[in-house]
Amino acid sequence: MSLIVMKFGGSSVGDAERMKRVANRVVERQREGNQCVVVVSAMGDTTDDLIDLSKQICSVTPPAREMDMLLTTGEQVSVALLSMAIQSLGQPALSFTGWQAGMYTDEVHGKARITDIQPERILNAVNQGNVVIVAGFQGMTADGEITTLGRGGSDTTAVALAAAIQADVCEIFTDVDGVYSTDPRVVKCARKLPEITYDEMLELANLGAAVLHPRAVEYAKNYNVPLVVRSSFNHNAGTNVKEEAAMEQGIVVRGIASDKNVARISILGIEEKPGQLAKVFTALAKEQIDVDIIVQSGVMNGQADFSFTVSLTDKDRALEVIQSIRSEVGFREVSSQENLVKVSIVGAGMVSTPGVAAKMFEVISDLGLSINMVSTSEIKTSCVIENSRLNEVIQALHTAYGLDTDQTAFVGGPQDRR
Ligand code: ADP
Ligand code: ASP
Ligand code: MG
Repeated sequence: MSLIVMKFGGSSVGDAERMKRVANRVVERQREGNQCVVVVSAMGDTTDDLIDLSKQICSVTPPAREMDMLLTTGEQVSVALLSMAIQSLGQPALSFTGWQAGMYTDEVHGKARITDIQPERILNAVNQGNVVIVAGFQGMTADGEITTLGRGGSDTTAVALAAAIQADVCEIFTDVDGVYSTDPRVVKCARKLPEITYDEMLELANLGAAVLHPRAVEYAKNYNVPLVVRSSFNHNAGTNVKEEAAMEQGIVVRGIASDKNVARISILGIEEKPGQLAKVFTALAKEQIDVDIIVQSGVMNGQADFSFTVSLTDKDRALEVIQSIRSEVGFREVSSQENLVKVSIVGAGMVSTPGVAAKMFEVISDLGLSINMVSTSEIKTSCVIENSRLNEVIQALHTAYGLDTDQTAFVGGPQDRR
């Protein structure tokens, strides 16, 4: 008998029919003699719809606490309905909110981190023969406040729970049938990867590959959780995410990811003296604003310019923070740019293969585009470029690194997802 965590994303439970299909799949698994803990996301576009609704109520950024109160309702609907669907197949089931399931987090509304999991209640329910269904994406602080884990966070609920209950495997069911060399909605002939390392997957997820939430991969790596990504629409073999993975001969780039949630902020004419960068980045960190690529240009007349990227969603707050420390730091001007995208190539073999980054720069410049910023690590190279021709860039890179296949990737669910 295996203990399995199965996670179903929003498009897998997008309507009542799909919910019933998921119920059948879970019951099938339980009746094969396994114990199933199911983590489920909000149905279809529910989370986006709730966000739209909040914007109709609030002209300014809504209070973060109330936003979490609102968004967690989406997952609560799903767990109740899935439990009903499973019970109507004659299989005992119990649904739990994140807090009932013992998911504790820190206090950062909107992007909380899991701090502790107390799984006794759900383990009891499992041991009594129930399929247990847990609401993804949500938790509770030590003070009893409701929090969410950031967009896509149900994956993290699933993997963290799998680690806490020492599940034999955590299966992430989604609308594609595995992790591909790039988003199969963009490149139809993308390559399905039978396996990928935790490190490569972590880079791809951090760099924008929505198929897994980055913190889910972090958990899987830290607790060595066997992780499989597969489709809820068919029984195709999926992708195993693991410590080590074989590389196909002649391929150095495992995947290509892109992230449109990027804004560039430039601080011009900053007075050149020790500690200036520290002041700026400490002030941003205090507001939980993550800074990504940082570029400083040369010093002239005792003044320097530097630019960095933040999430587009953090841009306005970042500008406010910088204005608030203007007199302390001393600079001439601050500006921002939005119409950007970060495109990245990832592969563990890159470090030992010369010319991989050079090829990326060449492909982008052959398309007549200029590169605004670059960052590299042992297993990735990222370029920030203008976003208007992103799909063309991804396709050209995919071809240049020999990743195209002669098959069409499986893509389920609505084709035009937002
Ligand atoms: P879910 O609702 O199941 O959590 P997500 O939308 O979060 O699903 O993630 C699945 C989507 O991730 C796919 O529909 C696909 O468009 C996108 N995606 C981006 N990069 C990749 C990739 N490298 N491999 C597979 N899917 C990817
Ligand atoms: N429902 C949340 C979202 O849309 C969490 C998730 O789907 O993982 O981001
Ligand atoms: Mg997701």
